[in-house]
Amino acid sequence: MKKRKFLKISGIATAGAIASPLLFSSCKSDNKMSSGDKAQEVKQVTPFTLPELSFDYDSLEPHIDKMTMEIHHGKHHAGYVKKLNAAVADTDYEQLDIWKLMEEINEEETAVRNNGGGHFNHTIYWNSISDNSNMEDIHSDLKDAINSSFGSFKAFQKQFSEAAASQFGSGWAWLNMSTKKEKDLFISTTENQDNPAMKKIVDKSGIPILGIDVWEHAYYLNYENNRKDYISNFFKIINWDNVSSAFLC
Ligand code: MN
Repeated sequence: MKKRKFLKISGIATAGAIASPLLFSSCKSDNKMSSGDKAQEVKQVTPFTLPELSFDYDSLEPHIDKMTMEIHHGKHHAGYVKKLNAAVADTDYEQLDIWKLMEEINEEETAVRNNGGGHFNHTIYWNSISDNSNMEDIHSDLKDAINSSFGSFKAFQKQFSEAAASQFGSGWAWLNMSTKKEKDLFISTTENQDNPAMKKIVDKSGIPILGIDVWEHAYYLNYENNRKDYISNFFKIINWDNVSSAFLC
């Protein structure tokens, strides 16, 4: 048992954090997951780091092109991480893990709000996509929840896509659950780098389990102004395994 735990932790260390479970490991630990998962929680506190991706920059083509990925992850997300660390340094925010930080952010703290949201949101986004997307990976509990909340998967896809398409300017569309306990699903959008975990900022807060970035930098090189095509293709690269894990946490 001990050895197994060690292997798990060392595997995480050498693989470099897989982007995916970072934000959700705290949820998993509530369900008495192994110490390997707890090891990842360290990554949720300052100094925050840019999560490595579990896929190559070119592996999402043709749906998301390599250059977009290089710039998006390597420049945009890296920039948010760097600026977030600078913004929270020597403040009370520095003591908070990423989830608590989101909850505490208020409208006046612009640098923490924009860069904290930027880091959090992009981590969810990388968690949401995969070069090995498979609809069969949707956990039956999540499938049931989608059906009961939206009527059908198709109806969910339509509502999510319309929300993402109609978000004016830069922002995000999310699939959220109300709380870890209730797990009622709802779709919402946020502006700029806000997100549903920012309880002091959004009208309806929740736990985002799937997010699509609709800032132009997420799709413009490949799709130009065709945001709808980007959204439609996003459904071909969703990491249902990760989204299911987030839902079950
Ligand atoms: Mn982005």
